[in-house]
Amino acid sequence: MSLLHSAVIPQVRTMIEKTLFGTLLDGREVYQYTLKNTAGSSVKIINYGAIVTSIMVPDRNDKLENVVLNYDSLQGYVNDRCYFGVIAGRYGNRIGKGQFHLNGHQYQLSINDGKNHLHGGISGFSKKLWNGKIIGDAGEPSLELTYISPDKEEGYPGTVTLTVTYTLTKKNELRIDYKGTTDQTTILNPTHHSYFNLSGSCKNTILDHVLSIEADAITMVDQGLISTGAYYKVQNTPLDFRTPIAIGLRINEQDQQLLLGNGYDHNWVLKNYDGKVRKVAEVYEQRSGRHLSVFTDQPGLQFYSGNFLKGTVRGNDGFVYENRTGLCLEAQCPPDSPNRPEFPSVVLKANDTYKQTTIYQFLTK
Ligand code: BGC
Repeated sequence: MSLLHSAVIPQVRTMIEKTLFGTLLDGREVYQYTLKNTAGSSVKIINYGAIVTSIMVPDRNDKLENVVLNYDSLQGYVNDRCYFGVIAGRYGNRIGKGQFHLNGHQYQLSINDGKNHLHGGISGFSKKLWNGKIIGDAGEPSLELTYISPDKEEGYPGTVTLTVTYTLTKKNELRIDYKGTTDQTTILNPTHHSYFNLSGSCKNTILDHVLSIEADAITMVDQGLISTGAYYKVQNTPLDFRTPIAIGLRINEQDQQLLLGNGYDHNWVLKNYDGKVRKVAEVYEQRSGRHLSVFTDQPGLQFYSGNFLKGTVRGNDGFVYENRTGLCLEAQCPPDSPNRPEFPSVVLKANDTYKQTTIYQFLTK
């Protein structure tokens, strides 16, 4: 009689773990949530700043490594001025002089970047404690984070409630769904600000990462990286990523826009904007074989090549992040849009709901 063995199906447990990450000066506790999927990948998120602190995904040999820049303690995130892994808001990116008109009122926001307002101001969403709720772990763990921003915070009108849901899917996607409401007309343009380094080691720069972006133009900027209102066609410039090309190949060219950004720090005007999610960018790192696709329903993508990292920021394991060791791909409406009626609107009215979906998908090739 032959012995029948039942097939051995590997059981990778899917779950969300919640652990204490640190305590803020005022005594409030910050938690870290670890989302694991059945493919063995994991994402860590803290409820301070809704920050992604780690994304562990396989290389082509199934070696799991972290592909985002991070700090090893809460203090690192409290002191951070690079916006590692955060949800930036209310307004991700810059607003010229921090000023805008809305419904006949002139608003003055806090100034935290030269003469301008950047990523929600001095103490934006990235410096707030969010309310965390585990909402599912049936194969695709999700964490819902909510922050209620009071009226006049950083100068913005209206009380805004923003919920950001991070989901780690079975397909190794980090899916981010945003939902925002207000009690008074305001502006809202949040974005996610992970610094990716697909090599799995931040000793390597991102200059050999091969990037493509679905865009024919960027929104042109001035010295303060504020939109001039004009579009700048990428054709025949080093900002042309319509076909995949290594980031470092043209980064030091004498292009006026590139010089102003001190590298890539611009907003690409994404093709096929109709409010639906579509693929807008891809990044490939040859040695690891890791490949990142970005999907979003947003009209713009800020590609920032980590130009302000200058070997002064000490991250995880005491590691110092050198120039261009991380890259951001931030889905959003273009910079300074409250002052640019020709750009897509960021106005949110009471009883309307702000929505955004952005997906970072990790594969190997
Ligand atoms: C901006 C950079 C800025 C950086 C801050 C990026 O989103 O485009 O200009 O310096 O955020 O870390």
